Amino acid sequence: MSSLKTSIKRPRIGFHAPIKGGLHEALVIAKETGCQTVQIFSRNPRGWMAKPLTKESVELFRKTQRETKISPVVIHCNYLVNLAAADEALLAKSRASFREEVERALLLGVDYLVVHPGSARGACEAEGIAICAKSLKLACKGLKLGAFRILLENTAGQGECIGHRFEHLRAIMDACPKLPLGVCFDTAHAFTAGYDIREEDGLEVTIQWLNRTVGTKNVRAIHFNDSRAPYNSRVDRHWHIGEGHIGLDALRRVAQHPKLAHAAFILETPYDDPRADLKNLQTLRSFINRS
Ligand SMILES: [Zn+2]
Ligand SMILES: [Zn+2]
Repeated sequence: MSSLKTSIKRPRIGFHAPIKGGLHEALVIAKETGCQTVQIFSRNPRGWMAKPLTKESVELFRKTQRETKISPVVIHCNYLVNLAAADEALLAKSRASFREEVERALLLGVDYLVVHPGSARGACEAEGIAICAKSLKLACKGLKLGAFRILLENTAGQGECIGHRFEHLRAIMDACPKLPLGVCFDTAHAFTAGYDIREEDGLEVTIQWLNRTVGTKNVRAIHFNDSRAPYNSRVDRHWHIGEGHIGLDALRRVAQHPKLAHAAFILETPYDDPRADLKNLQTLRSFINRS
């Protein structure tokens, strides 16, 4: 008889790791800190120009991934890209930059690329969704994507950002039936966008709605963050687990939810030195290592 313990699916956990020592270094840090998954930027997240990846850095990254077995590996897109931009010049720049992000992700052989749907300043939500869908299609045109997936992240709904309702993500997926799209569910963004996950019934309603819109099986990554900003504030402020407005008990329920156990749980909590600041990781680990 197989033991019950082995049949309990536990999420893979990790955090957004720095790449100062080279892209491969993030995998090493993840391994050293007992993680199974990791998120990185593949480049400076706040500049348009990216240094091209050298053959050596790609080989080193792929080799380190094989050795550390860190999986899935997630790249977060740079912050300048706005796939729903109403401004033509910004839109063109964003599409080119996003294509470059996809090409880099494919070169490095990572599993997922997380992107925010964008901000449709001056346009209505439906227009923003249509522009975003077109951007995704153009950016991926002619590329062999294989098992790679682009994950649309739900947003806090700051300014005129789209993606703060799960329906927006569904609409983008529907508009791109041939693209391998999935979802990254950010707990802090959902909470400040008006999904009240503080109590058990609120979390249940949220996950049911997530399932009915995008399908929980398509939720491949969870950005596991507490929020420094209050409920429904539409403000994006990640905070340490258990020290924000969502709270310890609520986040424990998220980490232990059976409908999310297949996803990679990634912390995006603030830190100075990831090797020194392991408290959030310990907290997340304590949630999933329950007996
Ligand atoms: Zn994000
Ligand atoms: Zn996030």
